[in-house]
Amino acid sequence: MSLNLLKGNAFYRTWARLSVKLVYCSNCDAVSTLASLERERCQTCGRPAARIVLRRPWQHWAAVGVIAIGAAVLLVNYLPEVEFRLLVLLFFVGLSLFFSSWGLRVLKDRALELGRSRAKEETE
Ligand SMILES: [Zn+2]
Repeated sequence: MSLNLLKGNAFYRTWARLSVKLVYCSNCDAVSTLASLERERCQTCGRPAARIVLRRPWQHWAAVGVIAIGAAVLLVNYLPEVEFRLLVLLFFVGLSLFFSSWGLRVLKDRALELGRSRAKEETE
């Protein structure tokens, strides 16, 4: 592990690498979620799709916050029972997953809306 990882933004960078990008395909009227390194193509028909860039919804930051709080709770409190520690961890991870999947759903809905209005503009 490099020293850089321990400095500052390691957590955020890890998160960003896991993040997805959204593309809208006017052919299928669908939003696809792609890994950030994937080519911008529709997952359904394979045609090139337009990338939709949106601000992350609050649920995303809630997910980040929950994990940070969970890590802090585990670091600060010495919990002798392993089972209890696991429960705390599961609770925070579960809550974080809940928020991040909610956030992704919100993001996809917004991307669909934006993609549709853009496609409309193009045809008009
Ligand atoms: Zn398509």
